Amino acid sequence: MSNYADMNMKECPICGGENLCAVANLERPETCWCIKYTPLSDEVLEEYQNKPCFCESCYKSLKAGKKLV
Ligand SMILES: [Zn+2]
Repeated sequence: MSNYADMNMKECPICGGENLCAVANLERPETCWCIKYTPLSDEVLEEYQNKPCFCESCYKSLKAGKKLV
């Protein structure tokens, strides 16, 4: 079981790349790239809860309904 506090919140949990999340980078949430997109389905969010944000390209793949895990 991984420790949430020790997790690298800047890393995309899918591809391991930088997620460029504004919150993880201690910037204002409204400056994050995800703001311009609609949220993912509850099903997906539930699967990835307590994990770092996705990067933009993985978000787009998930949004397109692709299974990435
Ligand atoms: Zn990614």
